[in-house]
Amino acid sequence: MQGPETRPLAIAQKVRHAMEQGSWIRRMFEEGARLKARYGPDKVFDLSLGNPILEPPEAFRRLLQEVAHAPSPGMHRYMPNAGFLETRAAVAAYLQRQTGLPFTAEDVVMTCGAGGALNVALKALLDPGDEVIILSPFFPEYPFYADNHGGVVRIVPTDATFQPDPERIRQALTPNTRALILNSPHNPTGVVYTAPVVRAVGEVLRYGEARFGRPLYLISDEPYSKLVYDGVQVPSVFAAHPRTLVATSFSKDLSLPGERIGYLAVHPHCPDKSEVVDACIFANRVLGFVNAPALMQVLVRSLLDVTVDIGWYQKRRDWLYTALTEMGYQVVKPQGAFYLFPRSPIPDDIAFVQRLQEERVLVVPGSGFGTPGHFRIAYCVEEGVIEGALEGFRRVARALALR
Ligand code: PLP
Repeated sequence: MQGPETRPLAIAQKVRHAMEQGSWIRRMFEEGARLKARYGPDKVFDLSLGNPILEPPEAFRRLLQEVAHAPSPGMHRYMPNAGFLETRAAVAAYLQRQTGLPFTAEDVVMTCGAGGALNVALKALLDPGDEVIILSPFFPEYPFYADNHGGVVRIVPTDATFQPDPERIRQALTPNTRALILNSPHNPTGVVYTAPVVRAVGEVLRYGEARFGRPLYLISDEPYSKLVYDGVQVPSVFAAHPRTLVATSFSKDLSLPGERIGYLAVHPHCPDKSEVVDACIFANRVLGFVNAPALMQVLVRSLLDVTVDIGWYQKRRDWLYTALTEMGYQVVKPQGAFYLFPRSPIPDDIAFVQRLQEERVLVVPGSGFGTPGHFRIAYCVEEGVIEGALEGFRRVARALALR
């Protein structure tokens, strides 16, 4: 019999390594599950998951029923890999209204969520060893997505208010840089990037194109673009750089994350656009997505101006932000998405998260987002969960004499 040392690996070393790296996150979730089993789920205040509990808007259900009663013939068949022409045209018209740019159906590829769209874009653009700049804190899947397509991430920290720092990005450019991923409104901070910062990032990319003589792409990950508060406008990245691709979805604004529906939009003035779009369509096919879910494509094309109740989220943002700052926690006020990213009151964010677990409050350490010393709260939860969590936060704040 072979011992464990000599046994050939059953799975890829790279995947095993990735899973081991993330194992402390898994342990945290296991601890959460243990607490729920011990005290009952309603006695554990889980702010760790970005999985919205809001149901999709009424308009979605009505349409779903209409389509179920009168499906158009052939709607469940294979289709062009880019998606139904009618859906792509509706998305293009929406983008035209939003940006004033002449989008057409040819600029849009329907995808399996924003995650699918990002993988499609990266597969279309990256050669082995190409670098993708990501900004910390970052959505933890980005390094894996880049690696899926032979890319390597270069991590650039944001500034003290979590805005991108164009100068630091400029310094991170190399002859191998191929793309930069932006995400605004942002997970995990909730920050919306300002128009001057987005413009400055575009200028840095053009500087890099001139310096290294190769195209640099801005990939903007925007699944939270409609979840903004205080009348804030999300500046259009399309105004910043012509080689721009927007990856987005209906996961958050229509509360449909399980349905895997989103799209990739390529700037109408992107140089070599048809080659870029064709590469994305090819990538959508060969990644095995084939095409985005047909039924969802039929529904979302009539729901582009519909969202869940944004006020539901804003109420929670206001409540948590006010309560936590009053207790002495330091938080950058978020203007979008459904996250807060407070500073950990003790330097070790993992120890702090464990301290909160003793109060039956579950959050995610900033280390998971490449930014230790912070923690993430996801407030897409019932009011009772926030109420219970705030009691725990208050007890810890008192114990640490934050005020
Ligand atoms: N990008 C960010 C920043 C996210 O927070 C998420 C999901 O939480 C995604 C992408 C993936 O979204 P989707 O469900 O559309 O694939």
